[in-house]
Amino acid sequence: MNEDKDVAACGKVTAVRGMNDMLPTDAVLWAHFERVARMVLRAYGYQQIATPIVEQTQLFTQGIGEVTDIVEKEMYSFEDRLNGEQLTLRPEGTAAVVRACIEHNLLYDGPKRLWYLGPMFRHERPQRGRYRQFHQLGVEALGFAGPDMDAEIILMCQRLLDDLGLIGGVRLEINCLGEAPERAAHRQDLIAYLEQHRHLLDAESTRRLYSNPLRVLDTKNPELQAIVIGAPKLIDYLSESSLRHFEGLQALLKANNVPFKINPRLVRGLDYYNLTVFEWITDKLGAQGTVIGGGRYDPLLARMGGKNAPACGWALGVERILALLTEEKLVPEDEGCDIYLVHHDASHAMVLAERLRQTGLDVILHCSVDGAIASFKSQMKKADASRAAYAVIMGADEIAGGTVELKSLRTPDGNAGKRGWQKTVAIADLVDVILDDITSAHD
Ligand code: ATP
Ligand code: MG
Repeated sequence: MNEDKDVAACGKVTAVRGMNDMLPTDAVLWAHFERVARMVLRAYGYQQIATPIVEQTQLFTQGIGEVTDIVEKEMYSFEDRLNGEQLTLRPEGTAAVVRACIEHNLLYDGPKRLWYLGPMFRHERPQRGRYRQFHQLGVEALGFAGPDMDAEIILMCQRLLDDLGLIGGVRLEINCLGEAPERAAHRQDLIAYLEQHRHLLDAESTRRLYSNPLRVLDTKNPELQAIVIGAPKLIDYLSESSLRHFEGLQALLKANNVPFKINPRLVRGLDYYNLTVFEWITDKLGAQGTVIGGGRYDPLLARMGGKNAPACGWALGVERILALLTEEKLVPEDEGCDIYLVHHDASHAMVLAERLRQTGLDVILHCSVDGAIASFKSQMKKADASRAAYAVIMGADEIAGGTVELKSLRTPDGNAGKRGWQKTVAIADLVDVILDDITSAHD
């Protein structure tokens, strides 16, 4: 048939460059990260929110700002073939969360603490720690104006990094971007300064000289570092109230033993930040060292058509955190199921497996690979390889006698070698015997 020919002619289809599969071997690490993260988010009273992966392009051009890496060159945008709408795969989470809050009037009964987790899409040059589909865990605290909220969201990062065992390998940098008029005064002087050094700027910085000069300070070009260091510093232009906010944050961080460094050149890639910005950085992942970035974005809600409300948040690059966990050898063991059920009679075995699952035990039921019943020996090999804690063996004699053989394959709480005992257990007692054994192994 034609269709078959087409498939054959295409050959093997691979994943899109820069977009990764999560394989079962990665899943253990992902699950570990998510478990720890959810506990931390709960500990601070954050509620989950999820928004669609596709949004109207305008959400991002308006929300993130036209003169940013993301909007200028990284967005996957397309026209909906059916109705001509301009759409974009979300490159970040904040704009959409703010849109959802405005659309559903979520702040009507007071401020909200929210979190999200999901894939983001940016058309970047793929390399270690930089992908075209990657995942962000983010929090947004909406409706809180004081530096106490800036401190809270930073403390959450510290707790999460600490609970993951990563706190020793990361450092916190903070800065204050002030408010628009303060940045305008600084901007004027900065442009004048950069104009004096115009002949030394690279193409990107020249292009940004007038459109977004603050971003010139964020350049990754090592040849521009001397110019960057000598540039007028925003902190010298901050108003009293901005400085008070910044000092308030620093006092709270100190009171909570959060070490930090002020980095006057920290500006962050997105347009909408004011006052506090911060990054958690590691030296262990090469060039892609920022693992969490965040800050305050008080102007964004009004700018997106909502009621004026202060807000701040952060986004964590999940792949970078997982890479760090791997680098630090903090990958948890794959625990395996409780039971591998070995049998020669699928109908009896399947009924027993369902009964066991109903009590909360995890069961892998041996299923035929080639339609034939495998020998007990080969099933036992599979049981061992499955990393299950126990094998339950159901032979014809046992079925007749209402019993099974229970074999311990390893300690239920981990991997401390096989234990290897085996005993005959009445089916009616099986769950109790297993649960008792698990409990005694944990004592
Ligand atoms: P970078 O300077 O590395 O490009 P960014 O400023 O663009 O980062 P944000 O938009 O602040 O990053 O996103 C927050 C976090 O998301 C980053 O600190 C990083 O951990 C992660 N991240 C951003 N882009 C990517 C990507 N392409 N691949 C993997 N992780 C990413
Ligand atoms: Mg980027």
